[in-house]
Amino acid sequence: MTFKDLGIVEPILKALNEKGYTHPTPIQEQAIPILLKGKDLMGCAQTGTGKTAAFAIPIIQHIYNNNQKGRDSKKIKALVVTPTRELAIQIFDNFKIYGKNTGIKCNVIFGGVKQHAQTAALRQGVDVLVATPGRLLDLMNQGFISLRDIEYFVLDEADQMLDMGFIHDIKKILAKLPQKRQSLFFSATMPKSIVELSRKILGNFETVTI
Ligand code: AMP
Repeated sequence: MTFKDLGIVEPILKALNEKGYTHPTPIQEQAIPILLKGKDLMGCAQTGTGKTAAFAIPIIQHIYNNNQKGRDSKKIKALVVTPTRELAIQIFDNFKIYGKNTGIKCNVIFGGVKQHAQTAALRQGVDVLVATPGRLLDLMNQGFISLRDIEYFVLDEADQMLDMGFIHDIKKILAKLPQKRQSLFFSATMPKSIVELSRKILGNFETVTI
């Protein structure tokens, strides 16, 4: 199995090739076809499995294909919410690497730093936004970010998110997302609280466990 067999478009294949990825990891092999079909996904996977590329590649591909059709590229179409600044930066770096030949625009926001540089970058137009929950809500409340046009929503490290007490923030974010969207939910563990949260987020979903 190669990335080409999975139906990945040429500009992304080129980036993966340059990065030295010869074959998809097991989670990529299982998740990418589900996500390219537009289905919701519950992924039970730890960091280190290649899960970031498993969700980043199909999202980049969808947005790239739609942008090729001349769609408005100023609006945020994909939102990835993750618990920590370090994870947010890692995910952002992944999107930049895989998307570098596609022209899609990514940005990252997190707390603990002044917001000015982040809001200035948002004004330039962003396809994919990677965010930690607190700063996301803060900038939404100030009117810098609208989730109205989100088509792809990823909740990453959901168990860590709950452990860190982000449940109320997540619920506030969910309330602002369009009903019609593709949702991806990742967690390393699946206690009852996580299953309950996933039900609020996912529609008709498929599960991948690594
Ligand atoms: P992640 O689980 O997303 O944190 O990824 C773990 C590491 O695997 C990262 O350093 C990725 O750059 C790397 N990686 C992801 N997909 C592949 C692949 N198909 N082949 C080789 N390395 C990969």
